[in-house]
Amino acid sequence: AKDNGKNNYQFFTPVMNTSSYERLTIENKLRRALEREEFILYYQPQVNVVTGRIIGAEALVRWQNPEIGLVPPDMFISLAEENGMIVPIGEWVLREACRQNSLWQRQGGTPISVAVNLSAMQFHQKNLTTLVARVLEETELQPCWLELEITETGIMKNAEAITTLNALKQMGIKLSIDDFGTGYSSLSHLKKFPLDKLKIDKSFVHDVTTNQDDTAIVSAIIGMARSLNLQVIAEGVETREQRDFLAANGCCEMQGYLFSKPVPAREFEHFVTTGEYR
Ligand code: C2E
Ligand code: CA
Ligand code: CA
Ligand code: CA
Repeated sequence: AKDNGKNNYQFFTPVMNTSSYERLTIENKLRRALEREEFILYYQPQVNVVTGRIIGAEALVRWQNPEIGLVPPDMFISLAEENGMIVPIGEWVLREACRQNSLWQRQGGTPISVAVNLSAMQFHQKNLTTLVARVLEETELQPCWLELEITETGIMKNAEAITTLNALKQMGIKLSIDDFGTGYSSLSHLKKFPLDKLKIDKSFVHDVTTNQDDTAIVSAIIGMARSLNLQVIAEGVETREQRDFLAANGCCEMQGYLFSKPVPAREFEHFVTTGEYR
């Protein structure tokens, strides 16, 4: 019991603030989740508020366990990152998202891009570009319809990052920085990376119309994106006031509950069919 106690911190995630026994049980369940096909993807529309069109879908993983229920990613991603399981889980997510988007396109819907979250550990896998190339080939999705979301810390930590990013970029995949503004990144670094898009973190969007600091930060990010020739999208848009502020300041691409919460593929289909989010 003592020995177990020593290593308990490894298994700690917010939801599992319980006994080490329970944590281990959850870890064991998570280990079997892939083979038992317990993961599912939800999709949240990314929209352009000027054209009224849907431009993309962010794939967000959920874990559907018969005993625990529907587990949100915040409850198991950090555990999966600590024990390395994020690598096979992330590979499943990538393949499933590409498969789904390819299917939507073959069904004749409006072509949209699918955005997949990559955790730092996946990003640092030696064979990442090979894997991505293989998945695109298998699923017959054109690279331009895949977007990878990486965090600032994910790329800043690693010296090889630029090589990996260049290889992905060369393949024609879009690269965006998730949670922009929350991590550590030097602007000179940012300029060196072959990025396509900055995603303004929802923590800045939340009070953007009421908090002067957030107003300034969001305006600065939009201005910076423009001068670095990057696209910009805001996440966590919940109110019309936030939408209007962002649009008036030059950020027309958005994602958030105001448009739709993340939904299962079946429910997402009407967005693809109509090409509109309203
Ligand atoms: P994220 O990548 O920043 O994703 C955005 C999160 O904000 C999602 O939570 C989404 O449901 C939520 N959200 C969307 N619109 C709104 C809104 O208007 N207001 C608010 N308050 N929240 C909104 P979700 O799906 O629970 O995912 C949480 C985090 O888990 C993600 O944050 C991402 O870091 C991670 N995650 C999800 N799927 C994956 C995955 O396949 N791989 C990896 N590595 N991480 C994932
Ligand atoms: Ca994301
Ligand atoms: Ca985010
Ligand atoms: Ca986040």
